[in-house]
Amino acid sequence: MTSTTASHAADLVAALLFILSLAGLSQHRTSRAGVGYGIAGMALALVATIVLAAQSITAGAVALIIIAMALGGAMGLWRARQVEMTQMPELIAVLHSFVGLAAVLVGWDSYLEVESHGSAQTRIAADLLGIHHAEVFIGIFIGAVTFTGSIVAFLKLSARIASRPLTLPGKNALNLGALAAFAALTIWFTVSPALALMVAVTVLALALGWHLVASIGGGDMPVVVSMLNSYSGWAAAAAGFLLDNNLLIVTGALVGSSGAYLSYIMCKAMNRSFISVIAGGFGIEAPSRGDEEQGEHREIRAREAAELLAQASSVVITPGYGMAVAQAQHPVAELTRRLRERGVDVRFGVHPVAGRLPGHMNVLLAEAKVPYDIVLEMDEINDDFAETSVVLVIGANDTVNPAATDDPSSPIAGMPVLRVWEAEHVVVFKRSMASGYAGVQNPLFFRENSSMLFGDAKQSVDAILQALVDAGPHASGPAAQQTAAAG
Ligand code: NDP
Repeated sequence: MTSTTASHAADLVAALLFILSLAGLSQHRTSRAGVGYGIAGMALALVATIVLAAQSITAGAVALIIIAMALGGAMGLWRARQVEMTQMPELIAVLHSFVGLAAVLVGWDSYLEVESHGSAQTRIAADLLGIHHAEVFIGIFIGAVTFTGSIVAFLKLSARIASRPLTLPGKNALNLGALAAFAALTIWFTVSPALALMVAVTVLALALGWHLVASIGGGDMPVVVSMLNSYSGWAAAAAGFLLDNNLLIVTGALVGSSGAYLSYIMCKAMNRSFISVIAGGFGIEAPSRGDEEQGEHREIRAREAAELLAQASSVVITPGYGMAVAQAQHPVAELTRRLRERGVDVRFGVHPVAGRLPGHMNVLLAEAKVPYDIVLEMDEINDDFAETSVVLVIGANDTVNPAATDDPSSPIAGMPVLRVWEAEHVVVFKRSMASGYAGVQNPLFFRENSSMLFGDAKQSVDAILQALVDAGPHASGPAAQQTAAAG
């Protein structure tokens, strides 16, 4: 077997491992195995690529590749070990930007190589040069859009810039105009591949990527992250065509299509138009700012909240990003245990985009050993709020905002939310009256049945626990009394 055949065989095995990885990652139970398949596939792909490259380049060049890989690998390992769970989406956005940048560099390299050596000394037949030019152009376009789009996503997710959507006048016309200009430039470039056109498409795509993601509001960022994941896959596939690397094409297509499907599923869950989100908020007009205060709010202290809980028959806890920031999941689990001991029916309501990662709250609650059967999805619990005595909103904001259902001009209008305001009492745990991730004020805070418990969520839950301990171990709530009477 020649080394080229061996390399093709390794590519095939690696591609199968990547498919197994995706299949494994689709379920909790098999996700660890899925990660293992992915690591094995990538290790195999790297070894096969280097072994094949070693035949046509000098030993010095191979050494440089290995040094670059070792440096990159060490940096990746260091960052991944350091990153907090709440910073994962930022990290993912940065990694997508690297894929985009790599595709741009591969495109430029491929163009310069063909231009300086001519097709005679490259692997490209003269009559296929037009196709090669189109590949270069499309690869650079997708890569540059992914690059700047991911950088804006990183800046928004890490709160380095405001998450509010940028609404330039005629923003839809700008996006459509950029796409039309790209199509015209591509035709021009395949006929006459001038350097100026390369510069033009790079600048155009960098600007479009920036504008597309800047135009999307904070509430839609989860979809943007998975959309950029998809773009980075297509950018990698485009680089695969230019590098004549089949594995890169297959892997890019896997990432591209699975990311696109995930974006579609998330859009459906959040009642958003897929086309509108991938087109940078196409068709969404400038929303009202909606971050101004809307009346008087009431405050409650931990001791009073503990009394409310002790009298409650049913409690629903809706956690959000603030619970992750405060790392309040352990005291929340302890509070759940104590209330259940007192005969209170305690359940959790988890919104699909609560926190900053899909499944973020489920992971935290599982880590704190909250029983799985009392953690319900939004659709499973939304009809029960009207019969609930107390809802504890722990560090959630956008996901419990009634403006999404009541105010058509709100930036989050139409997004399904947890209808916590239907409960008898709502206690909101947060540090201030600041708005949530989407930058929209929350009318829930000013409702008659809502009270604000200000402070760090962990400290507030600890204080409630202490107040419950001070009040004694005996059951006092109606549920406990009913249980006692029935017994
Ligand atoms: P939000 O981000 O809307 O609000 C979180 C709230 O937590 C803030 O209002 C903040 O108020 C409070 N908070 C922060 N730190 C603390 C603390 N230490 N103690 C107590 N409270 C704290 O949270 P949600 O989970 O409701 O919504 C998630 C948002 O993030 C949605 O808009 C979603 O679209 C977006 N998003 C989700 C992603 C996902 O995949 N899940 C990915 C990217 C974005 P204060 O500062 O006053 O304390």
